[in-house]
Amino acid sequence: MVYGDDATPAEVVLPAPCLVVLVGMSGSGKSTWAAAHFEPEQIVSSDMLRAVVGAGEDDITASDDAFMLLEQIVERRTKRRLTTVVDTLGLDPLRRQAWVGRARQYAMPCVCVAFSTPLAECRVRNRERHKSVPQRVLAGQARQFREQCVGLADDGFDFVLTEASRVRTVPAHVAHASSESVRQRVEPVGLRFGLQVPTFDWPGGPAEARARLSEIGRAAEDAGFESIWVMDHYRQIPMFGPAWHDMLEGYTTLAFLAAHTERVRLGTLVAGITHRPVAHLGKIIATLDAVSGGRANCGLGVGWFAAESEALGIPFPPLADRYTLLEDALQFLPLYWGKGAPSFEGRVLRVPEAMCYPRPLQDHVPILVGGNGERRTLRLAARYADACNIIGEADVVARKVGALRSHCEGAGRAPSSVEVTQLSTTLVGKDARELAASVERLRPRRSSAEQYAARVNAGTVDDQVGRFRALAQAGVQAAIVSFPDLVDADPIQRFRDVINAFGH
Ligand code: GDP
Ligand code: MG
Repeated sequence: MVYGDDATPAEVVLPAPCLVVLVGMSGSGKSTWAAAHFEPEQIVSSDMLRAVVGAGEDDITASDDAFMLLEQIVERRTKRRLTTVVDTLGLDPLRRQAWVGRARQYAMPCVCVAFSTPLAECRVRNRERHKSVPQRVLAGQARQFREQCVGLADDGFDFVLTEASRVRTVPAHVAHASSESVRQRVEPVGLRFGLQVPTFDWPGGPAEARARLSEIGRAAEDAGFESIWVMDHYRQIPMFGPAWHDMLEGYTTLAFLAAHTERVRLGTLVAGITHRPVAHLGKIIATLDAVSGGRANCGLGVGWFAAESEALGIPFPPLADRYTLLEDALQFLPLYWGKGAPSFEGRVLRVPEAMCYPRPLQDHVPILVGGNGERRTLRLAARYADACNIIGEADVVARKVGALRSHCEGAGRAPSSVEVTQLSTTLVGKDARELAASVERLRPRRSSAEQYAARVNAGTVDDQVGRFRALAQAGVQAAIVSFPDLVDADPIQRFRDVINAFGH
């Protein structure tokens, strides 16, 4: 992608991490541009390193040492996949090619920014400097720049930008979808949204649960979320916090939410099939359906968190056995929720009188099978379920939807009969500045801002519209999001504009 002067977009969204190579003569504004767009620690500058190992920024006798250090820093940072800006003249084609190669080696995009500030302007700026570069040297740099700038696009850079470009780095999969947000406004596609509430350690502790949960429930409904999901865990899971963080029981929480909302559907994402007797689970869901006025979803999965069950003395049989039980449950539950008291004989589940009154209000409680296994989990979803749940971004979703479709064909069901839902952590900011502040506030010490942003799929409202459109195009029909900053209704309200962009 090359942006000329007249085609320079308002803001270029760069995928993070990336390697940015500046090219331009002294005084053309490279260091100023770098400081305006990147954090100081992301910028590696030959001038600064000359000052570190030599007598000062302009100590050209220290150049060899400075460049040796610069190359080492670039190598180590790219190896760690940290965005790095190489602030040198950039006029040595061999060095530029080596940086492109280095970025390739670590699968990072490489960006060139060419500073074509006129020589006369650079001269003026240069004269104002503490130690100015000799006129003759400046003229030589200007000539080199003119000769080289036409060929920059052939160096293999993924982007060639100019000094007029304003840039912003965002997680790679968000950047890849950045043009999608514009498309969504012109040719909107539909997507429904659900909210996952996986954490409960509010600042005021459990005394806050009542107020916070009802606030979150109402705000989610107002914002246009069609469903609310909680986890079926007895204690917090490692992805969200330490085991001793407050964790509310899922179905009790859903019953509370049922009383404080009118329209949203309610479910666990997903009930561990071994967490309680299957008939007990079916009874709970039928009751939730009754007290919510027919809004229960039934999410089921084989579970994975052995340590949790072991800690609490709950049996956690091997995976193959859990799959067998899940398949039995998928056959049993509709029977249990149906009329009469039939006897059910599964492979491991035996229920002599499958009777559950009141029966659920819904004629059919939708069943979602959650889990990422392409071979077994998606096969069960294809055979028995109304929905599946996938964790991953557009590329992963596209692959799994392919697997789901072929399982559907194998089971003789129309692929459209299994709804594709996707679960992701999503950090949304009104604009880039607010987003950066949230990332900085929330990130743990060991993660760079960029690494954390990638983990929580950080993006502005526009970024998220693009990202969710890409997911919809990959086959997602309902996106379920969890906000890492969900202590009150603020993130829900910020997300409203994303939901609205998809026509809800
Ligand atoms: P570098 O040698 O390419 O790194 O150039 P610097 O970024 O150090 O800029 C050289 C001088 O030009 C500094 O005094 C800057 O304040 C000034 N400068 C940089 N960019 C601009 C710009 O866009 N406009 C103006 N007027 N001055 C600039
Ligand atoms: Mg400079």
